[in-house]
Amino acid sequence: MHHKIAQEFFTHILNAGYIEPRTTKQLYCEQDAMFLADRYVTGTCPHCGFARARGDECGGCGKWLDPLELIEPACKICGEHAGGPRDDELVSAARQAAAEAGRVAARQRILERERQELRARVAG
Ligand SMILES: [Zn+2]
Ligand SMILES: [Zn+2]
Repeated sequence: MHHKIAQEFFTHILNAGYIEPRTTKQLYCEQDAMFLADRYVTGTCPHCGFARARGDECGGCGKWLDPLELIEPACKICGEHAGGPRDDELVSAARQAAAEAGRVAARQRILERERQELRARVAG
């Protein structure tokens, strides 16, 4: 893809809301290369200091939690520290979304062509 087009496409993807830089609510595990749902996050409770609080609820004080509130949040799958996504990770997420959008568009073009061929055959 031409660089400028890629840039425009990236902007389009951003505007379309496929990804929301800086506002994402999910933590990211570099080890597993994935965004972590609440239940995959563990860390220290900011309210009572319980060390193995879950991403959604503290087992110590029972308070509902947001994974982003946890002190030293970690990935439950691999145990690695989990942080907010970096820009390059957001870019790669955007690329994946762009690639998927491209595949969908290509599929639609093929379907449309097949439909036209079918119509031409029926008409002929
Ligand atoms: Zn707690
Ligand atoms: Zn992990």
